[in-house]
Amino acid sequence: MVSVTSMAVIIDGKDVSQKVRSEIKDKVLLLKNERGITPGLAVILVGDDPASQIYVRGKKNACLEAGFLSREFKLSSETKEEELHDLIKELNEDEAIHGILVQLPLPKHLNADVFVEAIDPRKDVDGFHPYNVGKLFSGTSYHMSCTPLGIIELLDRYRIGIEGKEAVIVGRSNIVGKPLAMMLLARHATVTICHTRTKDLAEVTRRADILVAAAGRPEMIRGDMVKEGAVVIDVGINRSETGKLLGDVAFSEVAPKASHITPVPGGVGPMTIAMLLSNTLNGASRNL
Ligand code: NAD
Repeated sequence: MVSVTSMAVIIDGKDVSQKVRSEIKDKVLLLKNERGITPGLAVILVGDDPASQIYVRGKKNACLEAGFLSREFKLSSETKEEELHDLIKELNEDEAIHGILVQLPLPKHLNADVFVEAIDPRKDVDGFHPYNVGKLFSGTSYHMSCTPLGIIELLDRYRIGIEGKEAVIVGRSNIVGKPLAMMLLARHATVTICHTRTKDLAEVTRRADILVAAAGRPEMIRGDMVKEGAVVIDVGINRSETGKLLGDVAFSEVAPKASHITPVPGGVGPMTIAMLLSNTLNGASRNL
């Protein structure tokens, strides 16, 4: 699980996610045998966005591998608001389903916020429902956003302490930056969130013991923006002109300075699906 470059430990998200998924599989067996419950995830895909189709297929395969019930609903891009509402309502009431996910983006005529809010917060395994977002402030949500949850899991599995650390997050999105800030705060880090209007970004990032890059800007975090010994988590997924996957961190410059670093691909990315399974399993264990 631990490999070392000249200095930094490479945080192997692929390996950790496989471990998490195999633990989930064991827990699913127990849940089935002891309580007769099979976790069920319903994924709704509207339209034919190719990237969304790939994500949905990945989620379905992960569900099946973990022993979950997986239900996939493929709706046409012409789907009317009412039809999508009816489907979500039906799934909210379906006892075999513990998680409901509406794959985003939706076609333009459908307002994503409206449909996320239509999901029963107990089944909102993406952690996007305003109820869960609000409850994150007090640490009492049913579900938390999967990507930030995956980052916390990576830090924990590598025994990287969070308490008392200076954590700097570059990016303030609702699905990564903001929820991650709450999670790190709950774990007693001192948290700073940076964004496009931050004045001297490098001055702030250089303070970080834990630096998280979630801006969606290829290799924007350069070597001189990182403190010696920092833990660097790269959330970014960007495509270069040649089609290569690039993170938000200039890996070759930053790795020699960092104590730990996540690669792209194979860092944060694989954790997101693992956390989706974990949220669904937790919902099933609570038996709603
Ligand atoms: P977003 O576009 O919603 O938000 C980006 C944030 O970064 C914004 O708050 C913006 O203010 C900030 N930002 C942009 N450029 C900046 C700059 N030059 N300096 C400082 N701040 C800057 O993005 P998102 O949905 O949070 O995603 C961020 C990245 O993470 C993307 O590359 C995305 O593909 C990736 N992502 C990965 C996963 C995963 O599973 N690994 C999940 C979600 C997002």
